Amino acid sequence: MKAAIFLGKGKIEVQDVPDPAIQNPGDAIVKVTYTCICGSDLWWYRGLLPRENGPIGHEFMGIVEEIGEGVKNVNVGDLVVAPFLISDGTCPECQVGITSSCRNVQRWGSEGNDAGQGEKVRVPLADGTLFVIPRNDKTGQIMPALLPLSDVLCTGHHAAICAEVGNGSTVLVIGDGAVGLCAVAASKRLGASRIFLGSTHPDRAEVGKKFGATDVIEARGEEAIQQVKVKTDNLGVDCVLECVGTAESWETAFGAVRDGGNIGAVGLPYEIPDIPISKIFWRNIGIKGGPAPAAHYIPELMPDVISGKLNVSAVFTMTVSLSDIAKGYEAMDQRRAIKVLVRP
Ligand SMILES: [Zn+2]
Repeated sequence: MKAAIFLGKGKIEVQDVPDPAIQNPGDAIVKVTYTCICGSDLWWYRGLLPRENGPIGHEFMGIVEEIGEGVKNVNVGDLVVAPFLISDGTCPECQVGITSSCRNVQRWGSEGNDAGQGEKVRVPLADGTLFVIPRNDKTGQIMPALLPLSDVLCTGHHAAICAEVGNGSTVLVIGDGAVGLCAVAASKRLGASRIFLGSTHPDRAEVGKKFGATDVIEARGEEAIQQVKVKTDNLGVDCVLECVGTAESWETAFGAVRDGGNIGAVGLPYEIPDIPISKIFWRNIGIKGGPAPAAHYIPELMPDVISGKLNVSAVFTMTVSLSDIAKGYEAMDQRRAIKVLVRP
């Protein structure tokens, strides 16, 4: 089969690799129908974070082709989506819903695992990791809307849950990448009444408005904080969804959140700012976040995606075939595409 292989900074190549085979009773083999390129793949592509050369990609959906003898929850022929982390679904952490901290957590593309950007994937711990998509006559049309369940939609939702977005909340989303845009959609779904989106890119702001942003803040840093303050009677917002992870974005988060409000953080902490404990204490600010327990959220979000109530497929602004995946990386690197859909 063919799979995208990461070969160091700026180099992605599609190579012939051996077809995956069942190795453990809990494995399944999935033939990929859709996969995509993640903003976090760019950390490695840009050489900002180290990664071993090898298969890449952690978002995919497809058809189950084969199952190991221990697999109970999925069957051959099922249409499935997989979260960006492999988890068993049975350990104490999974049982309480923090599947990203699973005791048996594994990553796509590491430790002898296949990755999502290929024709087929061996899925370890298939019972905890694969989620069956019920099919109806419209499933084919909404397929690209289901793929974000593997990462960006669950991650945006996680930011909103961590910040306790609810009915009538005022929200500031920092970050206009796919995760930030999904955080807008998730906030709307949870009942936010006013959603500010920080964006200086008109194309991204347009998608954000489509997803429910009521105000676009075309500024960063102190100017963004001032604009949010002016529009909230100098109060600040109830909830800040931090989807960037830089020192500047954290400054903005602290500046824009109201006293007693919450910051939900899902931006990979690329620059780790000093945590201003005294500011957090005296202003009663809540901070929570981390990698989304996508496997925990998929069952809750999938029905709304299937019904069409939650459709974030507009984050995919470019589609390439697997053989052209390098062009997709280039486009995302150069910010010509928000997120690239890949069809094997
Ligand atoms: Zn677990």
